[in-house]
Amino acid sequence: MICYGLRTDFRRELFEGSMWLLAWADIIEELKTVCWCGQGASCNTRFTGDGQIVRDGTQIVVGGNDSYTALCRKHFKEGNLGPKRLK
Ligand SMILES: [Zn+2]
Repeated sequence: MICYGLRTDFRRELFEGSMWLLAWADIIEELKTVCWCGQGASCNTRFTGDGQIVRDGTQIVVGGNDSYTALCRKHFKEGNLGPKRLK
């Protein structure tokens, strides 16, 4: 069986389903993505329409696909969405 999922939410906390997939998986392969700076991006980041990073709130937002991007740890901590998204 093959399963895919996000490891963590926008707060860098495990989804309950991801926790059990990680616990039970025989083999785990990470699909790499890249931050705007070129570094590997491991932080699933939620942001508002005016470019502010969201740090709190409900884990799941239905229909919020345009409100997420992947950032490296440095830019996630800084709250820096990159030159294309003004902060
Ligand atoms: Zn970065």
